[in-house]
Amino acid sequence: MKSVDILLTNAHVLTMDQDLRQFFPGAVAITGERIVAVGAVSALRQEYHAQTKVDCGGKILMPGLINAHTHVPMTLLRGLADDLRLDVWLMGYMMPVEREFVSPEFVRLGTYMACAELIRSGVTTFNDMYYFEEDVAKAAAEAGMRAVCGQTVMKFPAPDAEAYEDSLAMARDFIRRWKDHPLIVPSIAPHAPYTCTAEILRATSAIAQEFDVPLHTHLAETSYEVENMRREQGMPVIPYVKKQSLLDAKVIAAHCVHIDSGEMRTLLHAGAGVAHNPSSNLKLASGFAPVTKMLEAGLNVGIGTDGAASNNDLDMFEEVRLAAFVAKAVTSDPTSLPASTALTMATRLGAQALHLGKVTGSLTPGLRADLILIDLSPLHNSPSFRRAADNVYAQIVYAAKAIDVTDVMCNGKWLMRDHELLTLQESELLSEAEGIARKIDSFLIEREGSIVSKLIALGGSMEQESFEVQVKVRIEDKQAVLSALEAPEIERLRYRHYGQHDTYFNFHDAEQGRLRYREDDFLDENGAVINTRRRLTLLGRKREHKFERDVLLSRSRFFAPATQSLRFYREYFRPSDEITITKDRQRWLINFRETEFFVNLDEMSEPPLGRFAEVKSRTWSRRDAEHKAALTRELLDVLGLSRSETVGSDYIDVVDVAR
Ligand SMILES: [Zn+2]
Repeated sequence: MKSVDILLTNAHVLTMDQDLRQFFPGAVAITGERIVAVGAVSALRQEYHAQTKVDCGGKILMPGLINAHTHVPMTLLRGLADDLRLDVWLMGYMMPVEREFVSPEFVRLGTYMACAELIRSGVTTFNDMYYFEEDVAKAAAEAGMRAVCGQTVMKFPAPDAEAYEDSLAMARDFIRRWKDHPLIVPSIAPHAPYTCTAEILRATSAIAQEFDVPLHTHLAETSYEVENMRREQGMPVIPYVKKQSLLDAKVIAAHCVHIDSGEMRTLLHAGAGVAHNPSSNLKLASGFAPVTKMLEAGLNVGIGTDGAASNNDLDMFEEVRLAAFVAKAVTSDPTSLPASTALTMATRLGAQALHLGKVTGSLTPGLRADLILIDLSPLHNSPSFRRAADNVYAQIVYAAKAIDVTDVMCNGKWLMRDHELLTLQESELLSEAEGIARKIDSFLIEREGSIVSKLIALGGSMEQESFEVQVKVRIEDKQAVLSALEAPEIERLRYRHYGQHDTYFNFHDAEQGRLRYREDDFLDENGAVINTRRRLTLLGRKREHKFERDVLLSRSRFFAPATQSLRFYREYFRPSDEITITKDRQRWLINFRETEFFVNLDEMSEPPLGRFAEVKSRTWSRRDAEHKAALTRELLDVLGLSRSETVGSDYIDVVDVAR
């Protein structure tokens, strides 16, 4: 008789190995952190003498589930912002809140919370990507879980790094120190091709290869991402990242919703694993990943919950069931993705996708003892049929719930016994999490109260104030002004011609001002668009001062390059109404009495309100404004516009009057 530490007996053993072998009644023998033997109870009893014997009471004994893609600290952001589009959700809410709140302490608390939830849903291994990832690693290791921990790198300032070079250095340092940990696999995580530069993708791949660790990233999550990539790089996402040498690393690609069969072959050839996230894809309406095709192509496709802010839970039972259901609905074929395949994705295939196939994912001698017990006797999954081998998989995938998991072991150590967590204190975690939620609530309440702070929260904007002395007049004839611009006292410095499309957002609270999204299409001599500039300006509603002859002093409170789409700003700022103005603009920068002015000749096409001339000059002080207002009146005389009808300073006023 050979001696082992633990012998689990009287279980319905699902090995989830290549042949999907089952033993009932079955047994598993464990010594230290590894599985020694798996088989029929009678055979193992004869062969092994155990220090500890555990009667499993007829429960299911199977490998612990693998959550192939998540952001565990985001448990603390669960329910923070929902029912939004991905860009508004990510750039408008998640990233601003993360920049404000995410710290090593936040990350550890969020990870403990996630580990408690994951263990309760039968997960023993998760693949993570977040900031301060070393603190995720510490907390996961304390909780006794196996995890692939990816330090995020991206082109924006992150909560843990001012610049991506800092993230790269952190990742390298983290990987070097944790590389041989028994539970943690350190990795590097360039967030996504659209949040990273080509240089970042190449640098992260080089680090992953240097240390032979996985590289975790989001790829082809939305059709928007793919369209942008095609427009900017002339190719879809997978060829682009291949070009940046990303696929030379051991890649774990989350999502892959919008990829074609050629891209699947590229991923397969590169040995990349895929993490399918049905809840997240459904909730964010990202589309339907071609899971059946990816599996047919031979890809290792695991199942992930994604972060708790986009799911909103870490329940792998729900995720596995959804993976099967969605695949059936999308292919109009109920035989697609049968229960046994779905459960294999959540175990062996998931481990292979994380490049951990030699460590975990099935009950196979030599692998680590990562396993769970499931009680299939409760009402919601009774009775049990055992006629066919597949009955049990259907029972687990279609009827069982996370609550049916009674016991969890990871790396040979129990993490949960009879529903009781052994490594974590749930009640303490809950009250700490509530405390953080209250702080985030007040932060957002304050921010949502002001357009300026919402603008600032988007990051990457420069706050700037500018004052202008300006006057606008209605004209009949452009030619007269064009001739007047030839006057000797006017020195013309620069000329531009463009099509200008303005969308003004109005808000219920008029004190907030108006937000203008402006697109300038610069035109060449033939009227063809050379390039387009997009800008965002918050305009003060009230005029600062009115000089003689309707010369006004106005104020723009904010000015930023518009990096997002008009649709993004509309959904983020939620204006009470919008006004669109389109015009053809000829603009001269001129020197008049040693002062620079802009002279604009505009033809409004939407709404069709006719022709206008505009004269304006920047100003910064009261005295300067007085002086420039006087010069403006002189310039109007020179341009022959003194008798023209003045119409305020802004087209929005013109439109308001016209309405
Ligand atoms: Zn994700």
